[in-house]
Amino acid sequence: MKKKTIIQIALFVLLAVVVVFVVCEYKRKPLRYHKAGIEEIDRDIRSISAKDLTIAERMSYYSERFLGAPYKLESQGDGPYAKYDRLPLLNLKKINCMTYCEIAMALTLSDYYVDFFNILQHIRYYNGIIGMATRNHYTMVDWVQANSWCLDDVTLQLGGDQAIAVERTISHAEFFKNKGIDDIPVMWPDRRTTIHYLPFEQLLNEKPELQSGDIVALIQNMGGIFSAHMLIYIENETGAFFRHASMSAEKTVDSPYEQYLQGVSENPRYLGMSFMRLKEEIDWKKNHGKFIVPLNIISRSEWGAAPLKGEGIEHIPKRITIHHTGVVYEGVPVALEYLKGIQRYHQEDKQWIDIAYHYLVDLNGRIYEGRPEHLVGDTATDYDPHGHLNICLLGNYEDQTPDRSQIESMSRLIADLCLKYDISPKTIKGHKELTDTKCPGKNLFELVKNKTVLNEVEKKIRLRH
Ligand SMILES: [Zn+2]
Repeated sequence: MKKKTIIQIALFVLLAVVVVFVVCEYKRKPLRYHKAGIEEIDRDIRSISAKDLTIAERMSYYSERFLGAPYKLESQGDGPYAKYDRLPLLNLKKINCMTYCEIAMALTLSDYYVDFFNILQHIRYYNGIIGMATRNHYTMVDWVQANSWCLDDVTLQLGGDQAIAVERTISHAEFFKNKGIDDIPVMWPDRRTTIHYLPFEQLLNEKPELQSGDIVALIQNMGGIFSAHMLIYIENETGAFFRHASMSAEKTVDSPYEQYLQGVSENPRYLGMSFMRLKEEIDWKKNHGKFIVPLNIISRSEWGAAPLKGEGIEHIPKRITIHHTGVVYEGVPVALEYLKGIQRYHQEDKQWIDIAYHYLVDLNGRIYEGRPEHLVGDTATDYDPHGHLNICLLGNYEDQTPDRSQIESMSRLIADLCLKYDISPKTIKGHKELTDTKCPGKNLFELVKNKTVLNEVEKKIRLRH
């Protein structure tokens, strides 16, 4: 063989080796959704969904799919036909801290690509209705409350009495004004709302029992808004991290737990962190297309109710009556404790068999089981409570303003009760329509009188059919 031929063969072999090496390297690279096509992502979601993974494992997996993804603050909007913000409803190529968390959550809850897209809209918009006024993500507080169907705030559970409460006024009007929007037809009123956070020294001294996939809000000290940054907590064989779409790194990164906490703790702008966790038991498929999830009612045993004192009088529920406790309540003590106090007062001072109301709703819209539905309630005023299902919001709504989440979950509860007992939603009344009382307070009664509650209930009943 000629020397030249040998060199040619050698070069060819070398080239082949290089090509094979490059192809292998490329194939070994983990899938990144910001570089993948829809079909590839769809296949991947289907294969992950077929595996029996926990929420934490799915959150770890899907959040990793965006490591290195370029950061862009203005990445998603209300779609090309929106009136105000026409950025796409979904952008996987460039993400910000909020869209990153939402995308990871929606992927975790979904079985295929279209499912993921729909769930994402449901996380981002109130009842999945797309628009500027129905956005959930102006503030973390709106977002957590609107997403209580899939997400729990676990800050208190993790931090116990180390958790610090902070109360602020959330104003959509102000928010829209700053955006130069002055023609939103429906707007929620300003409201005071409380969240809890764990301070940095606490997080560094005694690491709470976080779980991979926990959503983390970095709480800042300015008024009007709570969260400055959203992150995902991740724990794997290499350590504990905050995984986040970072503006300063201009991409999605894993920041080591302690190092990150040290950094933010030195910035006087930040106070600490709040933590949220996806519920383990969400069954999206069961409610597919209806956007309805079972109402989570905190049972008597869960809030530590005392047993009934006596048998009570049985009745058949025929109508819905709305109350407030009439005492200003700002979340302290926590509702679980507060309810025990009300029950004690009703049983001991009033000598009733039990707490007077059938259901109670706290400031965040969480519902607590009160007196059994089949037993007549009690009242200190002069109407006959036979046949009334009494629903009571904690607080004084002569002074306080009901929160959107309270109206939302109260309406859900009423819709369920109307269906259960074949009660017409037209029977919904405020206590003051029955007798001389201020209950349920003018701010809550306004929503009964102007049919906001009725409309919400009827809408939810229609969805059920
Ligand atoms: Zn009342």
